[in-house]
Amino acid sequence: MSRFSTLRLDRVSRSFGRHAALKELQLEIGGGEFVALLGPSGCGKSTALNCLAGLLPLTGGAIWLDEQRIDRIAPERRGFGMVFQNYALFPHLTVRGNVAFGLKMARVPKADIARRTDRALEMVQLTGHAHKRPGQLSGGQQQRVAIARAIVLEPRLVLMDEPLSNLDASLRLEMRTEIRRLHQSLGLTTVYVTHDQEEALSLADRLVVLRDGVMQQVGTPEEVYGRPANRYVAGFMGYRNMLEVTVASADGDRLSLRLAGARLTGLDRDGLTAGGRAIAAIRPEDLDVAGDDADGRIPADIEVVEYHGRELAVQARLSNGQQVHFRTAGRLAPGDHVELAAAPERVLVFAPDAGEKPQPADEPAKDVPRQKAATP
Ligand code: ATP
Repeated sequence: MSRFSTLRLDRVSRSFGRHAALKELQLEIGGGEFVALLGPSGCGKSTALNCLAGLLPLTGGAIWLDEQRIDRIAPERRGFGMVFQNYALFPHLTVRGNVAFGLKMARVPKADIARRTDRALEMVQLTGHAHKRPGQLSGGQQQRVAIARAIVLEPRLVLMDEPLSNLDASLRLEMRTEIRRLHQSLGLTTVYVTHDQEEALSLADRLVVLRDGVMQQVGTPEEVYGRPANRYVAGFMGYRNMLEVTVASADGDRLSLRLAGARLTGLDRDGLTAGGRAIAAIRPEDLDVAGDDADGRIPADIEVVEYHGRELAVQARLSNGQQVHFRTAGRLAPGDHVELAAAPERVLVFAPDAGEKPQPADEPAKDVPRQKAATP
């Protein structure tokens, strides 16, 4: 199957009745790239993938492979490989039979089928299991058969929809490495759907973060992890502490903030000015008990301590009622009073969401907003 240089989604939209599941998605994917579509359940990532696959007609926009418009081409004529979370293997066929099936359908000569099937089985390390039926394999092995079945066709694009979500934690990690290795050795352009930020960060060359069918950010793992475009992306990428603060003063992109009667310095991400309310986003791993040279100290009372091996995961409460989460290598117990600090460059300051009223920063919060838990 011929390779391409650019896959272009041009304002791709898909509605179900009045519900717009995907809104004008604009994206260019280079040949050989591994792109992850990331977001919580219902954000539209499977819809985007199914539009690419041809399983869902678009309700707006177009999809181009170089100069060829492909969104009106039947799925089987697009030359794409697909791997889904339910492996959808033929139970009555052997592993070899499952992998060879697509080649037989395509009337590839027998000798070529044997050679290509052997190679695909080798790639996913299943040569020794070729004679077994899917029912005799573990979940991870079945998923490998599904991957072999997709790559044996040498597709110009591989589409994967949460392929690891049915596997247990250790198998997930193993298969993740496997998928990365396959991508590195075969260079197949891949679009991978997941709600797991860690999976997306570790696998993809670029991440596309979606919310309610709208693209929020596209960037390398480093960009999306380190410089989330907005508060939503930050929350999804592990900035679990979303603290309501007041901007005391601004010096370039450095903001001096007031939080629960204490002072904190952070980086402006939204063009904020002095006097306004804002949200300071901090990852639990970037907040710790203040050292001697700390820039700003936030008093907190320890509530819950979890042992995590090398460190403790701690939940504490600020004097204004807001809850914070942090990690520490020190020894702490519920009831301890501490002062917390974070490096200013690790504190990202966003405008409060439009339409969402923040609690007053210096009064007890009745209901501190809880971010969607990112994968620990
Ligand atoms: P998940 O991770 O749960 O699969 P997702 O991000 O892949 O979520 P989609 O499956 O793309 O989300 O769904 C996006 C939105 O479109 C959801 O609100 C969903 O309810 C709606 N939707 C998806 N498929 C259909 C359908 N066939 N009919 C009606 N609504 C649909």
